[in-house]
Amino acid sequence: MITLKSERELTLMREAGHIVALAHKAVQEAIKPGISTAELDKIAYDVITSNGATPSFLNYNGFPATICASINEVVIHGIPSKKTILKDGDIISVDIGACYKGYHGDCAKTFFVGSVSEEKRKLVEVTTQSLYEGLKFARPGNRLSDISHAIEVYAKSFGYSIVLDYTGHGVGHALHEDPAVPNYGAPGKGPILKKGMTLAIEPMVNMGTHRVKVLKDNWTVVTQDKMPSAHYEHSIVITDDGYEILTKIKGEEIDV
Ligand code: MG
Repeated sequence: MITLKSERELTLMREAGHIVALAHKAVQEAIKPGISTAELDKIAYDVITSNGATPSFLNYNGFPATICASINEVVIHGIPSKKTILKDGDIISVDIGACYKGYHGDCAKTFFVGSVSEEKRKLVEVTTQSLYEGLKFARPGNRLSDISHAIEVYAKSFGYSIVLDYTGHGVGHALHEDPAVPNYGAPGKGPILKKGMTLAIEPMVNMGTHRVKVLKDNWTVVTQDKMPSAHYEHSIVITDDGYEILTKIKGEEIDV
């Protein structure tokens, strides 16, 4: 069931989104060669909890950390570790969720570590832009898959592939709500978008094959060909005539 959020609920979701964005900013500022993903996890935990929220992912289905830290060929769900040290030239996708007074914000960004190859930079840039290409169709009266289709067409036009096994989702009182939001598919299908729908839209784009596998830890998702993958996600709400991004620092422009 898709729920439409009230203004009261959206106020709480904007606060959750603000806290997620603060955590992203702090993590981004700390990223450099030599830092461990466990240290980044601690930074995000401290920002979220000191702002009166709780980490959405910690203990979610048993996930052991605040952030997902997914380096290079890791697509999503990388588990932070003291042993995982960032190296010059890596890209790291950081996914962060925070729950404020019962409402979640969910956002992922892919960051550069030191000097990154032009190839990887392009992958991240296209992944980021693919979300905004999808969002051009985020308004009342359109269908959900109009967004999905635009993401897929844009990313594939650069020769990249779209991960099919994982999708975006509704977000709100629960971290994962209906509907699923695929990053692919024909336009004109799925639910009609309505004011108050809150969606976490999150393209996962691979440089090589779309095929992925889950490692033995039962979390880490990697590309089968070990080529890099990028991830970009925002939580949004459908408004009267378009959309509003919820996972942003209040009063600031979106920092991609
Ligand atoms: Mg998500």
